[in-house]
Amino acid sequence: MVSTPLQAASKGKQNDPSMEINLNTDRCLGISEDELEQIKLFNGVRLSSIKPLLDNCPVLYLEKDETLIEAGEPEEFMYLLLSGRLQVLLQKNADQPITVLESGDSVGEISILDHQPTSGYVIADKPSRVLRIDEETLWKIVETSHIASNNLLRTLAYRLRFGNSVMHQIQSLLREFEYDATVDPLTGFYNRRWLNKILGRLIHRCQSEDSHRPLSLIMMDLDHFKRFNDTYGHLAGDRALNAIAASLTSHLRPEDAITRYGGEEFLAILPGSDMKDAQQVAERLRQAVEQTELYSVEGEPLPPLTISLGIAEMQPDDTPESLIGAADKALYRAKRGGRNRISC
Ligand code: GH3
Ligand code: MG
Ligand code: MG
Repeated sequence: MVSTPLQAASKGKQNDPSMEINLNTDRCLGISEDELEQIKLFNGVRLSSIKPLLDNCPVLYLEKDETLIEAGEPEEFMYLLLSGRLQVLLQKNADQPITVLESGDSVGEISILDHQPTSGYVIADKPSRVLRIDEETLWKIVETSHIASNNLLRTLAYRLRFGNSVMHQIQSLLREFEYDATVDPLTGFYNRRWLNKILGRLIHRCQSEDSHRPLSLIMMDLDHFKRFNDTYGHLAGDRALNAIAASLTSHLRPEDAITRYGGEEFLAILPGSDMKDAQQVAERLRQAVEQTELYSVEGEPLPPLTISLGIAEMQPDDTPESLIGAADKALYRAKRGGRNRISC
């Protein structure tokens, strides 16, 4: 039993002697035996052996929304949550905490051990009381009780695992954002942003290969799509774009890529294909569009659409702009030639 007083302090009242309280009392400023028993660090530890070590550890009182730990600051203490609830946030104004700490939990033990700045903000979610432990006291606790040192190791292992799972979540969110930023939702094709990032690299790679690997582009544009929209409605137009996109995808090879270049304009990138190969691919795509069955929103069959295609094979000094320009000119010739055809 320890009868020496603990200092009770709110963050600003740490040294106010009028706030001194007795560890064994159950007053609102004190720490009850029950509270100490629920602390995970002390789980299974004979409390009488460590109580003397806690004599000089103050109890801090936090109002709701008060910050206990600032991210990026060096932290010399760990905190044991006696009552209340704390949120751990990566950003101070984040919508969601990465975790919530309840009575019995601890926080700050990693910074105390590695002397590195803290990685998150710890903010009171409701009025809370924490017992502040300095480094020296923590080591004394660990030396006094091997059960406490086991508990500390267990907490650190949990933190490590938790950190890994947060990293996995962040990685999968990043993948999702990247997908949303580069893929057009209606067609499932890559968008212009992706094209701008990738085409230059692909051209460079093909041009710098010893044997100058060929690369061709096919620029495509649906024929009289405005008329289709005007006749059957914009929603039917959207469905048609979606169905045609699926047909085009299924007629490309795995290493080919296709982008939604504009509203009803698509650009296929065919690495390793020369003009002759690209002509075969283009003819497959042309037929695929012509044969795609289209339906109205009510499920009525609609007349098929056709597509015009322009091909350009990469020349040694081509840039993305010049190569796309050449495919675009070829497409224009296909349109002028009567549509539903291929031009080179
Ligand atoms: P052309 O054969 O000369 O290409 O004629 P066109 O009517 O296809 O060409 P135009 O450029 O006059 O019209 C393109 C149409 O494509 C107009 C536009 O409303 C439609 N469009 C573009 N994006 C979308 C879309 O996401 N959904 C729908 N439903 N229509 C779209
Ligand atoms: Mg167009
Ligand atoms: Mg068109």
